[in-house]
Amino acid sequence: MTHRHVAVIGAGPAGLAAAEAALSAGARVTLIDSADQPGGQYHRMLPDAYHAARPERLQHGWRAFDRRRRRVLAHPRCTWWPDTSVWALERPDTEEPGVPRVHVLRGPADGGRRRRLTLDADALVLAVGAHDRVLPFPGWELPGVFAAGAAQALAKGERVVVGDHVVVAGTGPFLLPVAASLLEAGSRVLEVLEANTVGTLARGWSRRPWELAAQAGKAGELAEYAALLIRHRVPFRAGRTVVEARGDGRVEEVVTARLHADWSVVPGTERTLAVDAVCATHGFSPQLELPLAAGCALRRTPSGEFVAVDDDQHTSCPGVYAAGEITGVAGAPAARSEGALAGWLAGGGDPAAPSLRPLRRGRDHGRAFAERLATAHPIGEAWPGWLRPETVICRCEEADYASLCRAAGNEASAGTRVTKLETRAGLGPCQGRVCGPTVAELTARLTGRPAERPVEGLPAAGPHLRPIAQPIRLGELAAAPEPSPDNPTPQAG
Ligand SMILES: Cc1cc2nc3c(=O)[nH]c(=O)nc-3n(C[C@H](O)[C@H](O)[C@H](O)COP(=O)(O)OP(=O)(O)OC[C@H]3O[C@@H](n4cnc5c(N)ncnc54)[C@H](O)[C@@H]3O)c2cc1C
Repeated sequence: MTHRHVAVIGAGPAGLAAAEAALSAGARVTLIDSADQPGGQYHRMLPDAYHAARPERLQHGWRAFDRRRRRVLAHPRCTWWPDTSVWALERPDTEEPGVPRVHVLRGPADGGRRRRLTLDADALVLAVGAHDRVLPFPGWELPGVFAAGAAQALAKGERVVVGDHVVVAGTGPFLLPVAASLLEAGSRVLEVLEANTVGTLARGWSRRPWELAAQAGKAGELAEYAALLIRHRVPFRAGRTVVEARGDGRVEEVVTARLHADWSVVPGTERTLAVDAVCATHGFSPQLELPLAAGCALRRTPSGEFVAVDDDQHTSCPGVYAAGEITGVAGAPAARSEGALAGWLAGGGDPAAPSLRPLRRGRDHGRAFAERLATAHPIGEAWPGWLRPETVICRCEEADYASLCRAAGNEASAGTRVTKLETRAGLGPCQGRVCGPTVAELTARLTGRPAERPVEGLPAAGPHLRPIAQPIRLGELAAAPEPSPDNPTPQAG
């Protein structure tokens, strides 16, 4: 027994593996997730109330996941907190970083009376994953246009279909599991459109082909998805995307067009297609609110910013480890390797243990895979060419491209905070989680300066800087926090 207490935030592939490894290192673990079941995005489970006869339908690696889930949740040193959102991390002293205090709300997000608790642990593993990124296009605010992840969550986690005639468009291998989930749930998928051209895909995927040998599992998944699309006669087209959604009150048709490698539209290639739903995805945005609150340094890559970790998954903040999609988008197997490594070390396990060798290898293969994904499925430079002045950029606040251009043209308002106030982009219910990276990118392009530069002596306002990571009601905020049953002494608010 190491007598350490490890709090693992997120019970997806990375967090569940972290919990298991920390337990086997001898630590006590509190495993926290805002969902009511472990599994994260990859092993999204149907609610217990559905009494599903075959919960493993639409799942890969279900048996191994199910074994791990049962082992972890039944372990006497594991406390499982489902339906629990970490809404803030509080550093003991901003000048001298240490393991932050965890602030949670326990209870279903839609219910009243959530309990507010705090938790102090000897180490934290952050494994909160990502959400999908969607680029704006004319008409994307119409009902019936979905982020592909949301559509998949409904299909996989609720068996609800978003439409009968659906187009799936964007870039990346995620297009395939989304189409598969929709087909399995009963939608007719008319087309799957990968915006990158065959040339870009071939260059990215054929680079250092020997490295792909380590991804045999992913190749198997890919083959299954391809077979499913063929069986359902769903065309997969590269170098084409949805550039406009149209409809009276909801989406009724989409305009698709062929794209050059930089994603500029090839003139005269536009086609219209009748649909009742569109699912779009242009990669993933890591959920960086909690790592930023903990004080973790980020690393910048061509496909965005991620948490910087060392060879042990340790962040720049003492006692805080990070694993999974927040450190790079490399898929579930890599998330599991990173999680196991992080959990073992956070739990006080021997850093020289031989069992870490395959985990480090898996993590390194995952990092190479992430680079390959970024090269094969980049976001083309010319995508803003789809925008029109009236195109909505922030769906929550209906801020349009023209207002962003106006704000960017005004020297006094070119900083992110002032742009937000002037255009209201990012001030709605999602607090910029969807439009934040897009607004930052467009502002930087329009002004020729990075959007997150410091203004008026305030720290730079990046698109992920949110001190409150999850919505909290004013009443909940006003209530004094209860001592966590997992902490020996009551905590002050
Ligand atoms: C919408 C979506 C769907 C995806 N579907 C697939 C797929 O079908 N196939 C595939 O190969 N890859 C899919 N991916 C990629 C996939 O996320 C990863 O490969 C894998 O699940 C990453 O594991 P993870 O543990 O890093 O994160 P996740 O699986 O995302 O797990 C993160 C967990 O953290 C929890 N969490 C987040 N914030 C908080 C908080 N503040 N408080 C408490 N809990 C929190 C979440 O509820 C979640 O359970 C999907 C990604 C997304 C965004």
